[in-house]
Formats: sequence, structure tokens, C-alpha cells
Amino acid sequence: MDFKLTEEHIMIRDAARDFAKTELLPGVIERDEKQEFPKELIKKMGDLGFLGMMASPEYGGGGMDTISYVLAMEEISKIDASASVMISVNNSLVCWGLDTFGNEEQKKKYLSKLTTGEKLGAFCLSEPEAGSDATSQRTTAIDKGDHYILNGTKNWITNGSSADYYLVIAQTDKEKKHKGINAFIVEKDSEGFEIGPKEQKLGIRGSDTHSLNFNDVKVPKENRIGEDGFGFKFAMKTLSGGRIGIAAQALGIAAGAYELARDYSKQRKAFGTEICNHQAIAFKLADMHTSIEASRHMVMKAAWDKDQGQNYDLSGAMAKLYASKTAMDVTVEAVQVHGGNGYVKEYHVERLMRDAKITQIYEGTSEIQKIVISRSILKD
Ligand SMILES: Cc1cc2nc3c(=O)[nH]c(=O)nc-3n(C[C@H](O)[C@H](O)[C@H](O)COP(=O)(O)OP(=O)(O)OC[C@H]3O[C@@H](n4cnc5c(N)ncnc54)[C@H](O)[C@@H]3O)c2cc1C
Repeated sequence: MDFKLTEEHIMIRDAARDFAKTELLPGVIERDEKQEFPKELIKKMGDLGFLGMMASPEYGGGGMDTISYVLAMEEISKIDASASVMISVNNSLVCWGLDTFGNEEQKKKYLSKLTTGEKLGAFCLSEPEAGSDATSQRTTAIDKGDHYILNGTKNWITNGSSADYYLVIAQTDKEKKHKGINAFIVEKDSEGFEIGPKEQKLGIRGSDTHSLNFNDVKVPKENRIGEDGFGFKFAMKTLSGGRIGIAAQALGIAAGAYELARDYSKQRKAFGTEICNHQAIAFKLADMHTSIEASRHMVMKAAWDKDQGQNYDLSGAMAKLYASKTAMDVTVEAVQVHGGNGYVKEYHVERLMRDAKITQIYEGTSEIQKIVISRSILKD
């Protein structure tokens, strides 16, 4: 057993930390307030290789392992979870999905642009009536020979308006239930494709979340991913890896809030001493640090499982469940350590507290993670 990071891992972690501090920290409060994320910043993330970290180098990707990816996700999420959700969707859902299951033409045409940040991707599974129960897809794709016709609505799609390419899950044969579902690559300028208004959100407000409408959208047959009926498996496999990225995001949010609380407690005085000298505050910091460290081990273990070619459904679900609860608990306590200042935007912890909540909801709610975990431990 070896808990040491390689020199390359440390280099990647430090590069992400540096990028987050120099490029993301300035303006993070304004982006949260205005619910915006400038295109130039997305381009910078692409130029630095954060948008296609694990993808194959022959398609412009970084060819890195999952450990490298979660290290970068943690550092970026400490500062700006809106940036990290964009990175996460593009890396673990869109690029990984295409790299693993796309054909040569799809990789050349789409993946090679998504890995470099020239284009951005979105992953469209959820619908008004199909969130946790992803099999209840109402979006239909009717086979018309050399193309499909898509109709339906997708909800809460990250990168909804900033994306160029959309991986869309749709029902092609209702009778076959989940075996009659397919995944398609849809281009933004397709006729009949409409982007709904931006959602007004509690957290990760810099990232754009939209509903999407498909009104007789024509999608060429060559844009279907995998064999006919592969769509549900595609979505589940992709999300299983995506959860490791969201677990790392939760870890980063928790670690960012903890670091701010720790530093603040060493400066702020009450009753004639720095507040960290009050045991109530010191014990909060001890609890925060312990649950963050436990989360970090779980995130790393899940990433390692994936890198070793081992099954990571269980370790990924556990990491997401635990790290997202840690993010919620730690950020609430970080606000408490800051007292009144914790409630004020310029101290950052209130934003991190709002950002933490989503990690218990998307890419499978905590209840769904418990279903995955319990099924896995009870199956033998
Ligand atoms: C900001 C944001 C970004 C998102 N980005 C994307 C995206 O890019 N792409 C995408 O496809 N989706 C995205 N989503 C959607 C997200 O994945 C879903 O919201 C999530 O899966 C939950 O689905 P739901 O909202 O329909 O909740 P529901 O499924 O209606 O669940 C409601 C509650 O019931 C619980 N529940 C449901 N079923 C069970 C059960 N069997 N046992 C126990 N409890 C259960 C849930 O855990 C939850 O607490 C995003 C959502 C948000 C808010």
C-alpha cells in the first residue's frame, strides 16, 4: 500500500491550485451574484488542459489517470464549484463517454474538439418526470432510416447554453423499456433545438443550468453512440465514473471551507484570545479535518479502483455519499466559526455552503447512492 502521490500528481495538483487562486478567485463572488461564467475563462480551462484530462492524447486529451483528475477537481472546487462542475461534466460524462463508447468518426469529429475546450459538452439525461428514475424517459427518438427524429424536454442541464455538443438520452422503443433507450450526439445549431431560460439557483450559480426542448430535431444515425439499445447502459456507466468527480468536488468544497475557517479562527479574537483557543472551536476544526481526510481517502480509493480497471460502482457511490455529506456538514460549521462574517459574501464560506448542497442531489441523490451501495453489499 502506498499513500504517496507521484511527482506528476503533485505537479497537476499544484497547477490546478495555482489556476484556481490566480484565475478563478478574482471575480468568483461577482460570478455567483450575476449567475455568469465568462467564455474566456472556459477557454483558459481548455488551454490548460482541464477540460479533457483523462481523454486519449490522440484526440487531444491529457491521457491522465483518474487520480490526477480528482486532485485537480478538489483544488478547483475549493475556490469555484461552478467552474468544477463544468470541468466535471465535460471530462467525466461527455469526454469519457465518447472516448470509451464512441466510434472512430465520432471521436475525430466531436471528442477532439471537446478535449481542448474549442467546444463544450453537456450530458442530457434528466427530464421533468425522469430524475432518479432515469428509465422513465419521455424524450423519444423515432428511427427514420438514416436519421432519428427527437422530441421531448430535458431538465436542469449543466452547460445548457454554453455547450456546443449535447449527449442526449432518448427512448427509441418504449416496449423494450430500458433496453429501448439510446444516446445521441446533438449539435447546438440543429433545427428544432431550443434552450430554455437559465434556472435561478441556490448554489453553483456561475454554471448555467437550463431546460432543453427538442421539437422534431433531426439527428443523423451516425450520431447514435454504440449499438441500438445501448443508451441506458451508456448513461449508467458514465454516471458511475462521474460520481467520483462529484465526490471530488464535494471534497474540495469542504476542504476550501475548512481552510478558511481554520485561518480565520487563528486571527479572530474573542474573550481576550484567538477563537481557535476555545475548545468548542478547536473541536469543530478537529471534526471537520477528520471527515475531510476520510472523504479524501474514499475519493482516492474510488479513483484508484477506476485506474486499476476494477469495479468502482460501490467505491464511487460511497465516496459521493460520504463526501457530499461532509461538504454539507463542514460548510455549515465553517459559517459558524466565522460568526457574523460567515453570513457575509466576502468571506466566501456562505457561498461554499450553498454550493455544497447540490453534491447531495446531482449525478444520483444520496438516497440513490444508498440504493446502489445496499444492492452491491447485499447481492452475494
Ligand atoms: C444544478 C443542477 C444541475 C444538474 N445537471 C444535470 C445535468 O447536467 N444533466 C442531467 O441529466 N441532469 C442534471 N441535473 C438533474 C439531477 O441529476 C436530478 O435533479 C437528480 O438526479 C434528482 O432527480 P429529481 O430532481 O427528478 O428528483 P426525484 O427523482 O424526483 O427525487 C426527489 C426525492 O425523492 C428521492 N427518491 C427518488 N426515488 C427514490 C427511491 N427509489 N428511494 C428513495 N428515495 C428516492 C430522491 O432521493 C429525492 O430526495 C441537475 C440538477 C441540478 C439541480
